[in-house]
Amino acid sequence: MIHVTKTFLPPLETYQAYIQGIWERVQLTNSGPLCLELERQLKAYLGVKHLFFCSNGTVAIQVALKALDVSKAVITTPFSYCATSHVVLWENADMIFADVDPGSLCIDPEQVEARITPQTQAILATHVYGIPCAVDALADIARRHSLKLIYDGAHAFGVNLNGRSLLSYGDVSTCSFHATKLFHTVEGGAIITNDDEVAAKIKLYRSFGHVGDDYFSIGINAKNSEFHAAMGLCNLPFVPEIIERRRAVCAQYDALLLEEGVMTRPEIPAELDYNFAYYPVFFSNEAQMQAVRDALSEQEIFTRRYFYPSLNTLDFMPDYQACPVSEDMASRVLCLPLYHDLSTDDVDRIARIVLETVKQYA
Ligand SMILES: *Cc1c(COP(=O)(O)O)cnc(C)c1O
Repeated sequence: MIHVTKTFLPPLETYQAYIQGIWERVQLTNSGPLCLELERQLKAYLGVKHLFFCSNGTVAIQVALKALDVSKAVITTPFSYCATSHVVLWENADMIFADVDPGSLCIDPEQVEARITPQTQAILATHVYGIPCAVDALADIARRHSLKLIYDGAHAFGVNLNGRSLLSYGDVSTCSFHATKLFHTVEGGAIITNDDEVAAKIKLYRSFGHVGDDYFSIGINAKNSEFHAAMGLCNLPFVPEIIERRRAVCAQYDALLLEEGVMTRPEIPAELDYNFAYYPVFFSNEAQMQAVRDALSEQEIFTRRYFYPSLNTLDFMPDYQACPVSEDMASRVLCLPLYHDLSTDDVDRIARIVLETVKQYA
């Protein structure tokens, strides 16, 4: 059986050594030494000023909205995981969808600008598959309209753009360290900012709004534990190797699949220091995609329609806002299996099934 992803696990002894320390100290959570050490290492690795380790990547976005005082209207992308838009609705803000660019699958700055109203307070954009949003154009729009710019960087760990981490862009970036992500802490996430004032708020809001016995504001519980931090400390040194192995799998897929010219891939800028977080393929139409998906699952090879459906089409959304590009791309995308130890034989086999099926449904 081949799943679309497989969680990387570090050597068990390394994890056990950290757990031994937890048993000795008997501090399990609340900014213990492992949480602080993970935050220190992640700040160094990403080259960012402030980073707050959180319980997951969804609550990280929630805290980011609160820390930036965003509660009215947010312009966001329909081509993302549902967490991105759900947070906006959960916070009772108006959600405005701006369609995506068909090349990068990231939010289209022109569409963003066209949807700004006096209520708009923020842009919440996702670096889909780790491919950077149009960061300069979005920063320019945000500055001209005094909007906050928040990046859902759940896929962006290990990506560098213009010599700096993609997670260092925007007023705030968030990340997910869920077990299915490239770098994980079982469950977990982070909020990243270079702004001292925003950082001070995030720190309070992450922990009920209190410090010691003093209460300063409302807040929520977005902390994470020593056990999760231990997993992160074990995994972080392996990130370069994990990315390298994914690079090799992607190169093999590219060589086998792309010459046919039937499938397309997102445009990944040549100069980008990329993380190979996913391997999305866009088929000619939904029927062809479905045929490939079925043919693979018959062989117990599991793909994922990531992202499907386009979030603007979910029937519990307050109103339907058309996003034709996102709806079209979401209907015919499939992410093929990709993980650190996917064998070359398996990639060959997957590519062969994909090509045979595509020919039948051309
Ligand atoms: C995984 C993911 C999230 C949510 O992260 P969790 O840690 O699972 O809460 C948010 N946005 C995107 C784009 C994701 O892929």
